[in-house]
Amino acid sequence: MSVIIGDTCINCDACLQVCPVDAIVDDATNPIGESRYYVHPEKCVECVGIYDDPQCAAICPSLGTITWDLPYTVAYEPHYLNSEIYNISSTKGGKLKTPTLREKKYRKDIPFELRGIGKEVQEEPENVDAE
Ligand code: SF4
Ligand code: SF4
Repeated sequence: MSVIIGDTCINCDACLQVCPVDAIVDDATNPIGESRYYVHPEKCVECVGIYDDPQCAAICPSLGTITWDLPYTVAYEPHYLNSEIYNISSTKGGKLKTPTLREKKYRKDIPFELRGIGKEVQEEPENVDAE
């Protein structure tokens, strides 16, 4: 999956500096032409196995700008091929790294209801099993 950067981004560069997998690019190289920073969904791993929380969202000074998106899995391939939202550019063996070619890790403790563009990242997700 991925997180996504919304149009309230103030282009401060903080998120780009902390991403452990270099998934973020700046406004000048945003591949969909928007004047904000951009997360390559085919690279983002939601910081799984590296940090407990998405580091980009933790450092972003614009609350709510970085939000959860859907899992980067085959089931959501059409979403990730929507050119108004994403532009997948990374390749492997000459093929674009769409979910069909390579699914990505995602935070399985984030309930599906909290995913989708605009669903604010929670640094400490509520335990849905807790009483
Ligand atoms: S969630 Fe982690 S891997 Fe994904 S863009 Fe943010 S810092 Fe990078
Ligand atoms: S940290 Fe937030 S405001 Fe700053 S560039 Fe990244 S998304 Fe934009």
